[in-house]
Amino acid sequence: MEKVLVVGAGGVGAVAVVKMAMHPEIFKEITLASRTVSKCDDIAANVKTRTGVTIKTAALDAMDVAATVALIKETGAELVVNLALPYQDLALMDACLEAGVHYLDTANYEPEDEAKFEYHWQWAYQERFEKAGLTAVLGSGFDPGVTSIFATWIRKHKLDGIRLIDVLDCNGGDNGKPFATNFNPEINIREVTATARHWENGDWVETPPMSHKVAFDFPAVGEKNMYLMYHEELESMKTHFPEIERARFWMTFGDAYINHVTVLQNIGMTSIEPVTYEGHEIIPLQFLKAVLPDPSDLGALTKGKTCIGDIITGPAGDSEKTYYIYNICDHEECFAEVGSQAVAYTTGVPAMIGAAMMMKGIWLEPGVWNTEQLDPDAFMDMLNTDGLPWQVVELDGHPEF
Ligand code: NDP
Repeated sequence: MEKVLVVGAGGVGAVAVVKMAMHPEIFKEITLASRTVSKCDDIAANVKTRTGVTIKTAALDAMDVAATVALIKETGAELVVNLALPYQDLALMDACLEAGVHYLDTANYEPEDEAKFEYHWQWAYQERFEKAGLTAVLGSGFDPGVTSIFATWIRKHKLDGIRLIDVLDCNGGDNGKPFATNFNPEINIREVTATARHWENGDWVETPPMSHKVAFDFPAVGEKNMYLMYHEELESMKTHFPEIERARFWMTFGDAYINHVTVLQNIGMTSIEPVTYEGHEIIPLQFLKAVLPDPSDLGALTKGKTCIGDIITGPAGDSEKTYYIYNICDHEECFAEVGSQAVAYTTGVPAMIGAAMMMKGIWLEPGVWNTEQLDPDAFMDMLNTDGLPWQVVELDGHPEF
């Protein structure tokens, strides 16, 4: 494979194409398409300045399957990397099947009118991709993505299975704004206002949104409050690692962020139910997105580090062991390298590495796969060489929280 079509000229797409252009031996021809072609052109100019590589750009509404099929054929792309929004996942998978090309994304499908994060819509494509001899890799960002690959690596090299897993996502960065989200505000707010859910002893346990708070001392960042949330890799990991007794996901938020979200929620601004305003139907959360800072403008302002990883406990021979595996990423260093902050960087780099695994034929088994089902070793090596080095430490038992 030599040619790739990236869809979505947002924060994540901007990082992924710069990093792809840094590997001309893998990605020989890159096309970036999005609804707004001027955003693609701006990113293409950044790619040229930073790497000297020329990428092609195109306007595309990814909900239009026929238009996507036509663009795939025109560009000769053999892989579509979906960095648009989760709403476009199924349309892009349909287009890949029709055009006979492979597919990769970073977030599971969500219907636009319902905040429901479930894999069943995309898992239903398993037979069609398998029969067509095509591969779809789901969730190759950081979380989901690297957090699942970390778990597979620990399971392959350190433990005989996974009994407990806590995924810890800490953004210790500060952008100086009273309230701004670090990636698409609509997707981010839908996620944090959803009911929290974790997997325990064979069942989902639900708790109200943001109701379970714990302080944790993160490497290179320090102590932060993290909140129990639902996140999509819990569903795929408990399915693919059936021995898991408990799987939880935690994300850090500052008090100011929580206060803003609480007020916005209380006054109805995070709702996805349409309301009529002066004769127009608007969705409050989409209106809110329009007035909040654009995450791709925050790169130059954001300082500090992210620390994302897993604490995993499981059997190891006759005993039980606990490991903490994580990456630390610096917002200012990311901005200097690619012109984006660390949240977009930590997603765009694994999207590029997942695409590289497919382009090189390492991840090309026909079917639909979550990242924890694939061999982790070559991906883990590329994390170390391509900007997201990881560390693994043994802990004295699973922390109580
Ligand atoms: P942005 O909102 O910054 O960018 C999304 C882009 O998708 C925009 O450029 C938009 O185009 C484009 N787009 C939206 N609808 C369409 C459409 N119908 N056709 C073509 N293009 C479209 O989002 P991010 O870059 O922050 O996030 C991208 C993806 O990454 C999301 O799915 C998000 O959930 C996921 N993500 C995953 C993470 C992980 O770790 N796994 C972490 C963070 C994000 P336009 O601007 O022209 O409207």
